[in-house]
Amino acid sequence: MISVPAFLIPLLSLFNAHGERAYPVGGCVRDTLMGVPPHDWDVAVTSSPEATMEICRASGYRVIPTGLKHGTVTVLVPHSGDPADREGSYELIECTTCRTEGGYTDGRHPDEVSFTGRIEDDLSRRDFTVNAMAFMPDGEDLAVLDLFGGQDDLQNGIIRAVGDPDTRFAEDALRLMRAVRFAVKLGFVIEENTCAAINRRAAGLARISRERISDEFQKILVSPEPERGVRMLTDLGLLPHILPHGISPEGMGALSSLPADFTARAACLLWGQAADKADENLAGLRLPNAERKDILAIICSAAMEIKATPRKAREWRHYKGDLTLTALAVRRAHIRNRPEEAGELDALAELVKSSIARNEPVCISDLDINGKDLIALGFKPGRLLQDILCDLLEVVWNDPAKNFREKLIQEALKRKY
Ligand code: ATP
Ligand code: MG
Repeated sequence: MISVPAFLIPLLSLFNAHGERAYPVGGCVRDTLMGVPPHDWDVAVTSSPEATMEICRASGYRVIPTGLKHGTVTVLVPHSGDPADREGSYELIECTTCRTEGGYTDGRHPDEVSFTGRIEDDLSRRDFTVNAMAFMPDGEDLAVLDLFGGQDDLQNGIIRAVGDPDTRFAEDALRLMRAVRFAVKLGFVIEENTCAAINRRAAGLARISRERISDEFQKILVSPEPERGVRMLTDLGLLPHILPHGISPEGMGALSSLPADFTARAACLLWGQAADKADENLAGLRLPNAERKDILAIICSAAMEIKATPRKAREWRHYKGDLTLTALAVRRAHIRNRPEEAGELDALAELVKSSIARNEPVCISDLDINGKDLIALGFKPGRLLQDILCDLLEVVWNDPAKNFREKLIQEALKRKY
């Protein structure tokens, strides 16, 4: 028996009562059949967008016309099941009129969508067989509407284009990357003809916006199989359209030993690349500036010395701040097969952790003395002050117990500046 959340049932029944149909469709069907709780429920409806609004409003649901052009109406469905409930929590359910899409002259967007109200049409426009199934009413129960062999492919772990793969990838080149994304997300392989078509159509990616490419790439990199994902992107000829300066092959092999964190995995993948090349690669991904800087900072830490001493731990924290442990983890992934170096690095990481736990001073701003104090002691304002503070930081790196104003004053006076 197929189960959908109880709050959804009154919504589905409502359409039936109006002589229309509402089908949970796409990712939620795939996930449910795999025994994974879907993160959202999309519903395909036979009614026109206007009728969908009417039907839902008339029975008390709140609705938002989020994408009327594409036939999408978002319905606020209370978890209590009562459409008129305004107090409790609710789910946002996208109800989209069954449609066909036609004439993808730009390789990105359909030139026209027509609302046919036929679920068969709606399933045909979807990308892969496992994403092209719906739940339909079957007496009191639900049954799977599966026109393209999606259940078999789900069973066998296969990503297969719906219809002719060349046509489908020519229509919308983002599907090239979606195939890889779903393969690594679900642990599936891409079917042979679909694979061959991706290879032939790889150049189509040039028509897709950098933001959408980046979004898919990030999902691939944080998937359970990042290494296989990047290998597929490489083998299928997609990678040059994502990272024009390529990757470090050792980095690809090290990906899976890192947690599913994009910053760490991106740094791992570009590890060893010259800073300007890595930066250009990252620029193409349109990342927020802070994220791009973090990734570069990790890549640059490759030049720092690994030595398991408390002082070195403080130095690392000074230079790499909150990124220290991530930077060490990326380095660790790269030397995972070199036990001696890895042992030293693990010991350093432990020292960093205890330095953090003890909240040790690692920056000039952490010192118990500042420029004003030094001026009050008679030092002349200017560069000299900075030099003194740097020297005092050295003192404190070697012995954090010296981070007391009196001791630092003694240290400053001891030195002849
Ligand atoms: P996820 O759990 O990652 O959100 P999903 O299957 O819900 O997976 P979405 O990108 O949210 O993926 O898309 C929802 C559904 O819409 C897909 O399952 C698929 O049927 C269809 N779809 C989305 N994008 C495309 C596309 N570019 N071409 C064809 N069909 C698509
Ligand atoms: Mg989704």
